Amino acid sequence: MSATGVASGVGFRSTRGLAPEVSFEEALLAGLAPDGGLYLPTELPASDGTWREATHPAEVAAAVLPPLLGLEAGEVEAVFREALDFPLPVVSLAPGLHVLELFHGPTAAFKDVGARAMARLMDRALARRGESATVLVATSGDTGGAVADAFAGLGAVRVAVLFPRGQVSDVQEAQLTAVRPGVTAYAVEGTFDDCQRLVKGALVDERLADLRLSTANSINVGRLLPQVVYYLWAAVALRRAGVERDPWFVVPSGNLGNLTAGLLAAQLGPLTARFVAAHNANDYFVRFLAGAAEPHAFAGSVRTLSNAMDVGGPSNFERLYAARGYGLRDLVTGQAVSDAATLERMRETHADLGYLACPHTAVGLEAAHRERLGGRGGPAVVLATAHPAKFPDTVARATGVVPPPHPGLARFERAEKRAVPLPADPSALRSELLASA
Ligand SMILES: *Cc1c(COP(=O)(O)O)cnc(C)c1O
Repeated sequence: MSATGVASGVGFRSTRGLAPEVSFEEALLAGLAPDGGLYLPTELPASDGTWREATHPAEVAAAVLPPLLGLEAGEVEAVFREALDFPLPVVSLAPGLHVLELFHGPTAAFKDVGARAMARLMDRALARRGESATVLVATSGDTGGAVADAFAGLGAVRVAVLFPRGQVSDVQEAQLTAVRPGVTAYAVEGTFDDCQRLVKGALVDERLADLRLSTANSINVGRLLPQVVYYLWAAVALRRAGVERDPWFVVPSGNLGNLTAGLLAAQLGPLTARFVAAHNANDYFVRFLAGAAEPHAFAGSVRTLSNAMDVGGPSNFERLYAARGYGLRDLVTGQAVSDAATLERMRETHADLGYLACPHTAVGLEAAHRERLGGRGGPAVVLATAHPAKFPDTVARATGVVPPPHPGLARFERAEKRAVPLPADPSALRSELLASA
């Protein structure tokens, strides 16, 4: 297929294999497959490599994603030029050590990339069909703000954000609960895993079928595919900076959506990349990779300083395991980083390299440090997933420095706030959704 021709769409099938194959648009609008599984593309057509000449991430998207999104290259480029209206710079910290800053969007975390592209793809699909939808999103901190911001005011979509009450940072809470047209925030009496369970339950609840529910969590393949773009873009930026080899990526991980996107990027590029999954104390995947935990034998979540990664049962494990099984161990190494090691890495990174990292990025930097100490060579790219100003207290505690403000964040401090309390009970969510429909 040519990059400019009309894309004949790749099909999408459920990880559980008990649902019919669908188009990207159907997978995007459904969120979760009717058998409770997650959608994955049936094939990953390797691109012709023209993305390596791109001068904007939207051109990477246009070169790689049309067959998957079932859109023409020109449409894909237009969606991504609008969605990615902020830079995605690769910053060199030391020889062989780079960070890919994904936090320059409106809510200061990498979730803006997937959420903004997905919102535009969904709005477009619904407008074409003359339909409307309700998007549910469970958030451990950053997703909710990014999604609420990305979808606010899009006429065809209503958004319900579920967050664990009292377990997100002040800055995150301000973003989540800022009053926006078409968006309701629910403060759930429970953990992030409870929020995620409520969302998954509602998506397959037949009593809610008339509402056309979808989700903007990374269980929706429509949020994952846009994230492919910045992995390839990082490789473009490195080449331009004179780095000849494709990098290995360190991915601060929670629900494993970002890592899944990286593995997709490597196949689509194709890119000879390896990955390090950097987790906090919520280290199920690290234990799985080490052969110390059975597939899907998840634990509960514990709270850490890198709260957007406090996920006991990462939902995208189902995708990773369905696609690769134990072969994951050939491509991905795991590292688990304690809060103490996270703080120490923040302190050293600031003292030695003059760089302020958020706690999530610091988990990645510590994982990169360990891998390099262990002899791993070649260029490393650590994904910087949030701006340090989103976690000012932790950053100041580790480094003694209050991070400079992020231009987007002040907007939320001034905004009017509202959150609806909700027990962690499926029937409570059902009543709410039906009442506000
Ligand atoms: C969501 C998030 C992560 C984890 O990403 P996953 O795709 O869930 O693995 C890491 N860092 C930050 C700042 C986040 O918001």
